[in-house]
Amino acid sequence: MTKLMAGNWKMFKGPTETYAFFDAFEAPDGVDVIICPPFVSLEDAVGEEWPIYAQNVHWAAEGAFTGEISAQMLVELGVQGALVGHSERRQYFGETDETVRQRAEAALAAGLGVIACVGELEGEREAGETEAVLRRQVEVLPVHDRLVIAYEPVWAIGTGKTATPDLAQEAHAFIKSLHDTRVLYGGSVKPENAADLLAQPDIDGALVGGASLDPASFSSLCRIAASLS
Ligand code: PEP
Repeated sequence: MTKLMAGNWKMFKGPTETYAFFDAFEAPDGVDVIICPPFVSLEDAVGEEWPIYAQNVHWAAEGAFTGEISAQMLVELGVQGALVGHSERRQYFGETDETVRQRAEAALAAGLGVIACVGELEGEREAGETEAVLRRQVEVLPVHDRLVIAYEPVWAIGTGKTATPDLAQEAHAFIKSLHDTRVLYGGSVKPENAADLLAQPDIDGALVGGASLDPASFSSLCRIAASLS
């Protein structure tokens, strides 16, 4: 199956840096690519050749929700989808399994794609709770051909601590036993560790944070993914 490589820029790159990124970024045939810029750079990014996803989306069509953006607004801009439930939203902005479900359903109803992020905290893994946490987070998600799940163990995000390929494979197989969809791995993916992770049978691609900011490193990750597709 074709691997999917999604770059989550988090709160990096305004419009000027977005143009500079696309000037230098190259992806070969044989890999699906999605870029998730911050809201202010979406309009500039949608003119490029790759699908563009927002990093969040609200469940209401409009209303008194200061600071939020609706799925309809993203569609109007030409955005093709949204991340939902990223662990940074869960940790710092009060996102719950229920609000993740609502965001995912609204985005799908508006015709958008969704990458829904799930993953356990370090303490939950140490306490043997990984499967219970993943089950809770995955079971609320709608089954839909435009919904992809990203398994991102929270202890591996932005920390340089990557899950071993075996550990990631085990979590992906578990998620697929609950939900029939593509499952991406996320957590400190870099050109040096990507091939071993992407070679696992149930790792269908990656959601990449830090290493997606540099066009050379994200191009290199896309080449690795294409070679394994
Ligand atoms: C992410 O932001 O989804 C992520 C996985 O970040 P990083 O690759 O920097 O760990």
